[in-house]
Amino acid sequence: MSFHASIITLYPDMFPGHLGASLAGRALERGDWSCDPVQLRDFATDKHSNVDDTPAGGGAGMVLRADVLGAAIDATSPPQDTRPRLLMSPRGKPLTQARVRQLADGPGAVIVCGRFEGVDQRVIDSRNLEEVSIGDYILSGGEPAALILLDAIIRLLPGVMGNAESGTHESFEDGLLEHPHFTRPAEVEGVAIPDVLRGGNHKAINAWRREQAERLTAERRPDLLRAKPLDK
Ligand code: SAH
Repeated sequence: MSFHASIITLYPDMFPGHLGASLAGRALERGDWSCDPVQLRDFATDKHSNVDDTPAGGGAGMVLRADVLGAAIDATSPPQDTRPRLLMSPRGKPLTQARVRQLADGPGAVIVCGRFEGVDQRVIDSRNLEEVSIGDYILSGGEPAALILLDAIIRLLPGVMGNAESGTHESFEDGLLEHPHFTRPAEVEGVAIPDVLRGGNHKAINAWRREQAERLTAERRPDLLRAKPLDK
């Protein structure tokens, strides 16, 4: 069975978005994954099709209603559906490559895209939504966050990336940022490719790459080194 994404959103036209092009787009055509946007507004019950209301306790903005969102989730994901239910949210656990891999190994995901100030807490609790953040900044809605999450998942699905090796040596896969890359021509604007990469000594090349990866990680993301001690 291929990876099946259902996305609950007020903007179904945003899907598959950029995932309709390039590698993900070809994989979508082949049926390696599928994308089923669900219009949240279709589950509104009043005559104005309201999906949101003012925050209890006062304050700015609007909140997505628990009854409307609950009905949309139940219709999209019946109790026997084993897919995880995710809510894109800046309050969520920051997304990691490890979580992306777990999701790619599973049957798919039901993804709720927030809007306005967010969603009524009662539906997060009752439908057991896992809040997922794509970083410490605020977007205007969950849709671009869902597209980013799906992009990261889809490239890991079997058969999607041409070269099966690509994907295991990337940044974060071994707790380090990736080493720098070079390609022909050998010299650009007076700058040569490092000698070691042209010598053909694979042991020396691997050692150089590892050293560069450790240096970049120490400089830019010391938190990664603390999270996962280096083996040697
Ligand atoms: N008031 C909220 C922000 C709402 S932004 C707060 O302060 O936490 C509106 C919607 O955009 C959110 O409900 C969420 O679905 C989405 N969103 C915004 N930033 C995001 C992020 N960093 N990661 C994932 N989703 C995000």
